[in-house]
Amino acid sequence: MKTFFNTLVVMLCISISACSQTSTEISKNPTTKTASTKEDWKKVLTPEQYAVTCEGSTERAFTGKYWNNHEEGMYKCVRCGYELFSSETKYDSGSGWPSFYDVVPGSHVEKSTDNEIGYPRTEVKCPKCGAHLGHVFNDGPNPTGMRYCINSASLNFEKK
Ligand code: FE
Repeated sequence: MKTFFNTLVVMLCISISACSQTSTEISKNPTTKTASTKEDWKKVLTPEQYAVTCEGSTERAFTGKYWNNHEEGMYKCVRCGYELFSSETKYDSGSGWPSFYDVVPGSHVEKSTDNEIGYPRTEVKCPKCGAHLGHVFNDGPNPTGMRYCINSASLNFEKK
């Protein structure tokens, strides 16, 4: 019986330390969040970040914090910190959303077609955590001709 209780205590300690490790990671690095369910994401994201990245909603044009950002640096996934877009490929599309003509070299964003607004659009998701980022259209500038139309709420900008 005593051995059983000892085992129980050890297991309890292991699970407590596993939990505290997760919250330590979140507080130490606010740009790298970990969660496995939508409910967990709700706890670590702002309501707007949650609506965009988990429910695929779109922030209103000209309201996000990065549509007019012209500083040099890297745009990373607001949830997992994956490097998605560089300021080098950001351009002023006039749309009111951060726009890029390409992803970071070596980054492979997930793409899938949706028909939510009556015509097909290609959705863009973070390849690492699956966060909804925005959409990609083929009316962008050279050299790719693509326009990645991304919600600021799905991004974290790291200045160079
Ligand atoms: Fe991510």
